Amino acid sequence: MANKFVSILGVPFINTTMDKFIDLVQNHIRKEEKTFVVTANPEIVMHAKKDDTYKKYLDKAHYITADGIGIVKAASIVGDPLPERVSGYDVMMRLLKEANEKGQRVFFLGASEHVLKETVAKTEKDYPGIVIAGSQNGFFDWKDPSLANRIKEAKPDLVFVALGFPRQETWIGQNLDQFEKGVFIGIGGSFDVFSGNVKRAPEFWQKLNLEWFYRLIKQPSRWKRMLVLPLFALVVIKNKAAGK
Ligand code: UDP
Repeated sequence: MANKFVSILGVPFINTTMDKFIDLVQNHIRKEEKTFVVTANPEIVMHAKKDDTYKKYLDKAHYITADGIGIVKAASIVGDPLPERVSGYDVMMRLLKEANEKGQRVFFLGASEHVLKETVAKTEKDYPGIVIAGSQNGFFDWKDPSLANRIKEAKPDLVFVALGFPRQETWIGQNLDQFEKGVFIGIGGSFDVFSGNVKRAPEFWQKLNLEWFYRLIKQPSRWKRMLVLPLFALVVIKNKAAGK
């Protein structure tokens, strides 16, 4: 069945549940089809609006999922609701579980060396069925082709790219053509959370859709970046009113 998409300020989000999305990704892995996944929040949408080069990289993505509650709310505002969030961290956890059961090859790209080491160690311990195809911290020379060559040779089924936005979409967009297979997915600071170096909001906050507020309290330095959230809401509402 064809996938349905919801356009939020020109960015097409896949209309899917988490379960269906994981099935979709597994299908691509089975068929060895190269796939680029973006898990996008309002910051990404706003960035794409003002940066044409970044938008071109997003245009290369096969799927863009609703990472944040802001996107789910925006979809309701435009009258084309999405069933739920399909967040980067949750997708990573689900894909690790599948990879463990199926013995898939996973490459970890991103975060500090310390966080990356802990991420790999935790994967080896908790998901022994996974084949670690390789890993690289997120502070490498982008002009050096050896990383892409290593990934090519490692032939991973899955590549988690945890460089933060807009770096991860940019890196995947610039390098995707070189690879023959693999699901490449940008997942922001997920290695920091997975390895226990950054705490995710407790479920109570998540249920109230206040994860963003929890992060703001924990990392007050983020407040400036968060100013984009009310702006995003305003533009979505204005466009809706203008019938765009
Ligand atoms: N990061 C990286 N390479 C860089 C910059 C950041 O791998 O050049 C990693 C960083 O260590 C963290 C993740 O990207 O694990 C997310 O960083 P940040 O919080 O800055 O980005 P966000 O996704 O929250 O925008």
